[in-house]
Amino acid sequence: MLTPAVSDDLSKFVRLEAAGKADGCPAASAGRGLFGLDAEALAARMVEVGEPAWRSRQLAEALYRQRVTEMDAITTLPKALRQRLVSEGWLVGRPQITQVFQSVDGTERYLVQSQGLSGAETVETVWMPEGDDGETGDGSDQDAAEEAAKRHRHATICISSQVGCAVNCRFCLTAKLGLQRNLTAGEIAGQVVAVFSRHAVEVGRDRVNLVFMGMGEPFLNYDNFMGAVRLLVREVGLSPQRMTVSTSGIVPGIERVAAEPLEFRPKLAISLNAPNDQIRSEIMPINRKWPIQSVIEAVRRVKLRPRERITFEYVLLGGVTDRLKDAAEVARLIRRTGLPAKVNLIAWNPGPGIEYSTPQSEAVEAFRRTLIDAGIPAYLRKPRGRDIYAACGQLKRTVEG
Ligand code: SF4
Repeated sequence: MLTPAVSDDLSKFVRLEAAGKADGCPAASAGRGLFGLDAEALAARMVEVGEPAWRSRQLAEALYRQRVTEMDAITTLPKALRQRLVSEGWLVGRPQITQVFQSVDGTERYLVQSQGLSGAETVETVWMPEGDDGETGDGSDQDAAEEAAKRHRHATICISSQVGCAVNCRFCLTAKLGLQRNLTAGEIAGQVVAVFSRHAVEVGRDRVNLVFMGMGEPFLNYDNFMGAVRLLVREVGLSPQRMTVSTSGIVPGIERVAAEPLEFRPKLAISLNAPNDQIRSEIMPINRKWPIQSVIEAVRRVKLRPRERITFEYVLLGGVTDRLKDAAEVARLIRRTGLPAKVNLIAWNPGPGIEYSTPQSEAVEAFRRTLIDAGIPAYLRKPRGRDIYAACGQLKRTVEG
């Protein structure tokens, strides 16, 4: 769900080597990782090694709340048990930050790697202090606004769900990588826990939103994506109302998320990006499979919480999707749905090998104004971390070494 960025030499920044497309847990070949297992699976492992199932609670607490990275740090387990687990090949296996790029605006971009496991690729995760305004305007947390203002911190973490992406949106640099592989639930949730650890985030005190808008299409890796959400809710203690998943419009995925229990369902963002099927099919070929109306019909199945809105993400491409007539058509389209909705506008950044242009700031503002005048809340996402390639769509330029 990303838009591309400035650059000069693509090969300098983007990992171009293929790494296979294997699904599933990378723990199999290089070590047996505990991170990513839920309490039930941890209990099963404990029973397997001849321990009582209740030890799984100690493990879950250590992995997801205390954020340990070494078995020896799980001091609630007897030392002999820790040693035995290690000798039998078990390890914590939590993804860890291996490189940090800091922006002058406070944004940080990370390369995150599965430690000690066979998943060799790094994935990219972004920490945006104070968010990027992409979460603004969803009334679902209005009650908490005053309380939140008093809280310690407000930030947004942008999380990747795949290495690369198969969707092939024409304006997106990730698309150029193709799909390299799906991330496991542990690799997805691990990005959050690693960033929480780095910033000493206090769950329940700090106001941190998660957006599944990094590399990849979460609904093409649905089981691992939802596995991560359940871990983050049950074990890390986060609210799904602080999570937003963005999809390019994978109808079966929208239908599945609509059927999830509210206690686990994140908020939904649709990466719309065009006013009609003709333009959308040109810039997002996935639209030929699932045109706008089929996406809207699937979205209708999502039972919204009080004051929750559907977010429509809209990348403005200069001269292609940013014209006033486009804005008017988008406004009509969204109003016709009758859905409580808001629009996040994202001004596209130019990228190598991608033939679109950046919209003029006047065009962006006129577009936003047209939506607002039509009664549709519309926000311009602040570009964050452009200087470190962390802004929307810049996550593809993984720096080598
Ligand atoms: S769905 Fe994939 S190709 Fe499309 S914008 Fe998102 S990451 Fe890029």
